[in-house]
Amino acid sequence: WHDVYYQPLIDIKSGKLAEFEALSRWIDPIYGFLTPDQFIVPLEDSRLVYKMDLNVLRSFAKDAQVQLSQGQKVYPISFNSSRTDLEASINIYEEIEKIVHDYHLSKDLVHIEITESALNDSSEKMKEALHHFHELGYEVWMDDFGSGYSSLNVLKDYHFDVLKIDMVFLRHFDERSQTIIASICEMANHLGIRTVAEGVETQQQFDFLKKVGCTYAQGYLFSKPLPFDEITIKMQSLM
Ligand code: C2E
Ligand code: CA
Ligand code: CA
Repeated sequence: WHDVYYQPLIDIKSGKLAEFEALSRWIDPIYGFLTPDQFIVPLEDSRLVYKMDLNVLRSFAKDAQVQLSQGQKVYPISFNSSRTDLEASINIYEEIEKIVHDYHLSKDLVHIEITESALNDSSEKMKEALHHFHELGYEVWMDDFGSGYSSLNVLKDYHFDVLKIDMVFLRHFDERSQTIIASICEMANHLGIRTVAEGVETQQQFDFLKKVGCTYAQGYLFSKPLPFDEITIKMQSLM
């Protein structure tokens, strides 16, 4: 019932495909096509979302193996890891390592997204997690940056590789939001952190992001999330 859809991230400078975010979909025999807002929270509450998160990685690993065997270039992915993955009955680090090892995946093809809100209530645990993932050789990306209330502390205390700027700023694309986005990108650039703008829907937004030095753009302007085969065909001209 679980399926993985991929949404492209475009390198803003070159205009080329950089990588994909892997996102879960649930195709239910009774309820039909379900989106994450319908199943992530219940799965988190029951501490089972780790199964889905790991299955996203496994599913990408299988697709990547096929592509490699056909001599095609494999683009990296980022996948979402819930805060509750750290509280699951399994050891999330070992499970990720096992998949990467079993499918002979190169570690620089796999980036782990953790939402800013996950840092609120379990900050010591998250600090440990960040450290551990880095030690194992994975990039860790902060999702939904700016959606919480502790963003600057988070930047000081946690060394994320990439900031994904929450789409709330682009949804209200006024002067105030533009100033905030520009400042985040400038600060991140000084700190040596790459940035992703989420929810890019218009060319005007893309041109603005280019001007302020944002690294990647993700949003409906390029594509909504699609199954692997469809997105591969759709992105051909940007490869
Ligand atoms: P997210 O990680 O912030 O993912 C981005 C969401 O924004 C996706 O929604 C995507 O379809 C949507 N989006 C992308 N571009 C645009 C745009 O231009 N405009 C608008 N309005 N929306 C855009 P989706 O796929 O429904 O996922 C919702 C959330 O569910 C994700 O937010 C993520 O937090 C969570 N999620 C999805 N898959 C997984 C998973 O496998 N594991 C876990 N733990 N969480 C997941
Ligand atoms: Ca995400
Ligand atoms: Ca996000």
